[in-house]
Amino acid sequence: MKHQLINIEKCPICGGDSLEKFLEAEDHNVSHDRFNIVECNDCSFRFTNPIPTEDTIGNYYKSENYVSHSGTKKGLINRVYHVVRSRAIKQKEKLASKHSTAKNILDIGCGTGDFLAYCKSLNWNTLGLEPDQSARNIAIESNLIEAKPLNHLYAVEENTFDVISMWHVLEHVYNLNEDIKQYKKILKQDGVLIVAVPNCSSKDAEHYGTNWAAYDLPIHLYHFRPNNMKKLFSNHGMEVVEILPMKYDAYYISMVSEKYKGGNIFSGFFNGFKSNLAANAKNNKYSSQIYVIKHQKGV
Ligand SMILES: [Zn+2]
Repeated sequence: MKHQLINIEKCPICGGDSLEKFLEAEDHNVSHDRFNIVECNDCSFRFTNPIPTEDTIGNYYKSENYVSHSGTKKGLINRVYHVVRSRAIKQKEKLASKHSTAKNILDIGCGTGDFLAYCKSLNWNTLGLEPDQSARNIAIESNLIEAKPLNHLYAVEENTFDVISMWHVLEHVYNLNEDIKQYKKILKQDGVLIVAVPNCSSKDAEHYGTNWAAYDLPIHLYHFRPNNMKKLFSNHGMEVVEILPMKYDAYYISMVSEKYKGGNIFSGFFNGFKSNLAANAKNNKYSSQIYVIKHQKGV
């Protein structure tokens, strides 16, 4: 499956045009095509380049492995994933509550709406945005959540939300800087933007290299590290105020990576454990991390 690819000439974070190949890896899920990740020589940001066009990227999502959009419970990895997910949902809401007493939340990339359904049960006013129509329909019909296509982002009024959450979504966003400008506009002055993304400076990323599941080429367009996140948001007058670990992700990502390299699930579990052991609140090297982001004062 070779679709037309777009070559990105400039770094989306610093605008630098000195880009060097960092790694070449396979799309393990759908096409088995190979894609490159480049690194910016000026700010060290890593991103997929070239990338499929926005209207063809959907072809790379159609996979049973893409569990976050489906109700499938086949296989041990998926079963574990579903159990852990319900615990994770509670922790996510707790984090949102900790940072905001007012209860208007927008979840971008809400999938089937499980997180928002839980928020709604705790009296949050919820809105979800989701590009995948079948996931959106489940959100609306089964979870009774208001869910709209992604372009609704630009129809939202300024200063509307206390919390905007994006759980493993920012790495998929095509118009990165334009969309961040819009998140900033629709977020209230004392509001909080909560962004979870994989971290390619983690021990498990280092260990698995081209088989690291969270590279997820080509659908992950960006491969953020903590400094990239800080720079990206400070470019927009926003500030990372807290970085938190997502410890389950080290296990999940390591087990899937192990599957890609033909290894066994127990090594995956062990490597997930080792990754968490190597990470701490100072080095911010967890497999996936949550960035709590606020408006910079006076910007
Ligand atoms: Zn750069």
